[in-house]
Amino acid sequence: SSEEDFDLGEFLTDEEFGEAPALPVVAVVGRPNVGKSTLVNRILGRREAVVEDIPGVTRDRVSYKAEWTGHPFMVTDTGGWEPDAKGMGRSIAVQAELAMRAADLIVLVVDATVGATSADEAVSRILRRSKVPVLLAANKVDSERAEADAAVLWSLGLGEPYTISAAHGRGTADLLDLIVEKLPEKPRERFLPGGPRRVALVGKPNVGKSSLLNKLAGEERSVVDNVAGTTVDPVDELIELGGKPWQFVDTAGLRRKVRTASGHEYYASLRTRAALDSAEVALLLIDASEPITEQDLRVLSMIVESGRALVVVFNKWDLVDEDRREQLDKEIDRELARVPWARRVNISAQTGRSVQKLVPALEGALESWDRRVSTGPLNSWLKDIIAATPPPVRGGRQPRVKFATQAGTRPPTFVLFTTGFLEAGYRRFLERKLRESFGFDGSPVRVNVRVRD
Ligand code: GDP
Ligand code: GDP
Repeated sequence: SSEEDFDLGEFLTDEEFGEAPALPVVAVVGRPNVGKSTLVNRILGRREAVVEDIPGVTRDRVSYKAEWTGHPFMVTDTGGWEPDAKGMGRSIAVQAELAMRAADLIVLVVDATVGATSADEAVSRILRRSKVPVLLAANKVDSERAEADAAVLWSLGLGEPYTISAAHGRGTADLLDLIVEKLPEKPRERFLPGGPRRVALVGKPNVGKSSLLNKLAGEERSVVDNVAGTTVDPVDELIELGGKPWQFVDTAGLRRKVRTASGHEYYASLRTRAALDSAEVALLLIDASEPITEQDLRVLSMIVESGRALVVVFNKWDLVDEDRREQLDKEIDRELARVPWARRVNISAQTGRSVQKLVPALEGALESWDRRVSTGPLNSWLKDIIAATPPPVRGGRQPRVKFATQAGTRPPTFVLFTTGFLEAGYRRFLERKLRESFGFDGSPVRVNVRVRD
């Protein structure tokens, strides 16, 4: 068979072959200007100048791969902030919440030359609940003389303040030693097998997310407060649907609506990203009574990037005229051309119409997301497809696709081994054919190509 005459070992490292071993994540949090970016640059061993924040312009979280004494890990610089004091407190609270969710270790950076501010105290209060280790870095201790200043930071209740100077590198090696000592080798298990499936309810403001949550939770909200063997974040909610508990992640953000003039969209997008990070499937709500907007498509992009399964929910169907429905379908096909595989459900969160259709849609999407096709059937399928439609000749050469394997699930990820470059068009063709033959309705599918000439 093609599998036998093809030595995979020559092609791939283990890391490339399977699901890449995920690395543990260190999140660096703290007020603006305490030196987070400087510390991150120091950890990365970079010398280049820190990119300055422009007031009022928010940057997003950025992750980088780092390594210390042979231990690789990811470091996340939690960026965005609002210039006004009130917004800042909230910004840091969001940062801390995100970090506790997504990271395996948190470094809280405090400016030792300033001491403990009320914002530092607020974030420390949140971080004291953290289940992952928290290290307190007292930054800007540029000289021995300044060490004493840091002692007051014991009052934050996060243990010993480790004095560093991110700018000059003073104490940062010791801090890194501590980080790798406390960091687990692998990131913690995000999706407990056998636990409730995790759903992110996302969409731009006013599409009806909280209305739907209330409808679904109904009177039963407290019934499933405790399911044996699960650890539910306080920001999540367990809701029983179709006889099973489902974990709706980050619903605290939906229940506590905070309106501020500035930065509202930014927080909405941070929340969306956090919810997607911890979910397995996204319920994207779109207001069917209005045209699809840029903002809807931005949320869709985040979902596509996240690789989560997807159910698109058209809400407020009670407001849609009979006449408009046909036109609406066309509009939807056009706007959602990126995700022709997504499942769609039309509902009214207000009247409860068709809400019961959500569970089968979620289950179907997750089933696709989890699905594995074994190598035998996959390769006989591949042989037939390629015999019927060979890859286009490129530069006078006919690339040969020799072998395919499904390297991962969640989402299904395939690797094709070829002897030449496969055009994007042909890759899309193969993906379409894969979907036609094996399903994967409701789930993204990734197709990677490994070339050896
Ligand atoms: P961020 O907003 O928390 O990411 O802070 P930055 O890394 O951008 O640093 C804010 C300012 O503090 C910059 O002017 C840095 O040069 C300065 N800074 C950072 N670390 C140190 C330090 O260890 N000592 C001193 N004196 N200044 C520092
Ligand atoms: P969120 O910002 O996405 O959480 O949206 P909300 O749940 O707060 O809903 C925004 C507005 O839309 C509220 O006035 C709701 O009453 C209304 N709404 C939500 N779902 C429906 C629906 O299915 N039909 C109608 N007519 N109105 C709805």
